[in-house]
Amino acid sequence: MGRDRGYELTIQRSTVEQVDDERRRGGVVTEQFVSRETPEWTPIAEEAERAARVLHPDRHGMPRPVHRRVLTVANQKGGVGKTTSTVNLAAALAMHSVRVLVIDLDPQGNASTALGVEHRLGTPSVYEALLGEIDLADAAVASSASPNLLCVPATIDLAGAEIELVSMVAREGRLKQALSPESLDALDVDYVFIDCPPSLGLLTVNALVAADEVLIPIQCEYYALEGLGQLLSNIDLVRSHLNTDLHVSTILLTMYDGRTKLADQVTSEVRSHFGPTALRTVIPRSVKVSEAPGYSQTVLAYDPGSRGAMSYVDAAREIADRGASGRIRIDGR
Ligand code: ATP
Ligand code: MG
Repeated sequence: MGRDRGYELTIQRSTVEQVDDERRRGGVVTEQFVSRETPEWTPIAEEAERAARVLHPDRHGMPRPVHRRVLTVANQKGGVGKTTSTVNLAAALAMHSVRVLVIDLDPQGNASTALGVEHRLGTPSVYEALLGEIDLADAAVASSASPNLLCVPATIDLAGAEIELVSMVAREGRLKQALSPESLDALDVDYVFIDCPPSLGLLTVNALVAADEVLIPIQCEYYALEGLGQLLSNIDLVRSHLNTDLHVSTILLTMYDGRTKLADQVTSEVRSHFGPTALRTVIPRSVKVSEAPGYSQTVLAYDPGSRGAMSYVDAAREIADRGASGRIRIDGR
């Protein structure tokens, strides 16, 4: 059977007649009249296979990194997929036995919502950890997505932090202080993802100082590369003055729509500019990905058979493989 003809039931002519007779007699049409041609490939079979790969990680495990990795997910452009990528990459790694911590550094608290973590006013959060009032471990809670996935939530208090931090001592290094090796050892995590707000303010600077790596999600859209120069020069500034280890290790193309030429143009422009820093896996535009946070879920939990879930698992595997091989600095800086 042709691969794209999909699912097909074949009823022999003689069988059709038998079915008609049976119907006329008022009987029930049973399986015995229907001969099924076993299909080699169907959309349902493909979806089931994707779900199996997402939900049975033991058969497709991911390696732990040679050392702990702290990645800041940043792009000052709004709505490019920072939060979506943070929570789904983190969940994909966690479901494959890697211990992950997500720091929600956006007062919108979207990452906390998607990970099913409480972030009402009064909840111990990243705000108190930034102020040094509590230890990071006191704010970290297990996500409903996986017991291997911890999240430090953001409450609306964080909205004031951008201004409050201005007058503080070592204002750019507050998050780095909270993310001390002792705290991270206590939480026993292999990966830390920091989800930034859509700005280049003090919260994002704190994230850039606290991390070794930057993961930049780029939306496959017009204007996608606009503003990227400013982000890259801010990263250069932080590297020269505050964090010599910082480098852009990962570019992730998001919301790829294969029906448009534009998506391909953006993809090839990004690949020619960033080379192998850009992951081979591209995240497709998918309704399932956008619906999942509405149910306080990652797309891996919401629809494990979807292309969106599979793409995030593939992207996470690329990240994990790089981490395990120690080939993280591929931007040559
Ligand atoms: P902000 O700058 O406001 O923090 P962001 O960069 O974190 O935004 P997201 O919140 O992850 O971006 O995504 C923006 C919107 O796009 C959300 O509604 C999200 O559900 C949707 N979205 C993200 N990725 C996809 C995708 N692959 N397919 C369809 N919709 C997506
Ligand atoms: Mg966000």
